[in-house]
Amino acid sequence: MRPDLILAGAGLANALIAIAVAEARPGTRILMLDRATGPSNAHTWSFHDPDISPDWHRRLAPAIRCRWQGQEVRFPDHARVLRAGYASVGGEGLSLLLAATPGVTLRWGAEIAALDGSGVTVGNGERIEAACVIDGRGAMPSRHLVTGFQKFVGIEFEMDAPHGVARPVIMDATVTQQDGYRFVYLLPFSPTRLLIEDTRYSDGAALDEEAIAVSVGGYAEAHGWRGREVRRERGVLPIALAHDAASFWSEAESGAVPFGLRAGLFHPVTGYSLPVAAQVADCVPATRLTTDAVFAAVRAHALSRARDDRFLRLLNRMLFRGCAPEDRHRVLSRFYRLPEPLIERFYAGRLTRLDRLRIVTGKPPIPIRDALPCLRERPLLAAAS
Ligand SMILES: Cc1cc2nc3c(=O)[nH]c(=O)nc-3n(C[C@H](O)[C@H](O)[C@H](O)COP(=O)(O)OP(=O)(O)OC[C@H]3O[C@@H](n4cnc5c(N)ncnc54)[C@H](O)[C@@H]3O)c2cc1C
Repeated sequence: MRPDLILAGAGLANALIAIAVAEARPGTRILMLDRATGPSNAHTWSFHDPDISPDWHRRLAPAIRCRWQGQEVRFPDHARVLRAGYASVGGEGLSLLLAATPGVTLRWGAEIAALDGSGVTVGNGERIEAACVIDGRGAMPSRHLVTGFQKFVGIEFEMDAPHGVARPVIMDATVTQQDGYRFVYLLPFSPTRLLIEDTRYSDGAALDEEAIAVSVGGYAEAHGWRGREVRRERGVLPIALAHDAASFWSEAESGAVPFGLRAGLFHPVTGYSLPVAAQVADCVPATRLTTDAVFAAVRAHALSRARDDRFLRLLNRMLFRGCAPEDRHRVLSRFYRLPEPLIERFYAGRLTRLDRLRIVTGKPPIPIRDALPCLRERPLLAAAS
């Protein structure tokens, strides 16, 4: 049967569209196609409680693997417990939620060889058409988006004894600084189950997985933790330094609707994409389900978001271009001394004008002389073209 909506890629962003459309427009036939052979547990998608709306908390509840009250950060010069709750969606939970979502057909092992605004061609030559086609096949480099990188390897351990970590540690930056800003991220899934993720904010995208895995092992050992590896995740995420969203969207015109990382829809500083994907997914069922109408709605949202994110990209340029790699941790340490409501609005991408002033005034994150060359994003875009 001809679908109403084709979602190319069954990753996080398209999954959220499927869930939003199925709820708002019951009876819609949604076809999701993904090249992977089946659901994967290679991700935990986490978010801070204030990041998403009550509707999304309800919709994602069946896929939540773990929830925590509070979180903490650790730096050489201070540590802090923050009040905001935190939650993680697991890959398996998300697949089960999709399987239970009415109207959704998910085809694994479907390599998309070509797609346009009216349909897709799968690897075996099969052509499938729909009124609306959305392309969520993950990040694609663009000369209109200049980035640094957040690289990480996370290993989930089942420890031989309780690890004693009470809540997520979003950043433990007391570790030796290496390959840019380095910190360790901890998620305690149970008293003996712990994800230890070694992360670097680096200028280059090369990921030496084995070397970072050794660092994770060293961190565990230094804390006296022994256990067996049960799961591993890795990633190289873009951190936006400069973005010309208008040119990006002009180039995409007349094709399928780009979505998720493919559309540059992620938090410029943290690289998180769940909150923004949830927000933008809501605008899909709110419009006519045709490629043109959804393209216009997602484009409008993305352009407005890219304007709002100018300040966050400036912070990234200060971090990546105005600061020596080994000094980057000082900028973050200073940031995490700011009031908690401001930190929550920062994560959720809802900084007010006053928040922005607060971040750069007083003692600026980096000396003014180093900040000045970072002010404009055009030179970076011009160099990339
Ligand atoms: C290990 C890891 C942990 C992360 N943790 C968080 C987190 O805690 N919180 C957060 O907000 N963000 C997190 N992120 C960042 C971001 O949320 C994810 O990268 C997210 O998965 C991006 O969603 P997406 O749908 O755009 O792309 P993806 O989820 O990568 O989905 C793209 C899909 O398209 C499929 N595909 C690609 N090409 C084709 C093709 N030709 N034919 C068919 N299918 C194709 C892929 O198989 C994939 O399933 C994490 C990223 C990684 C890698």
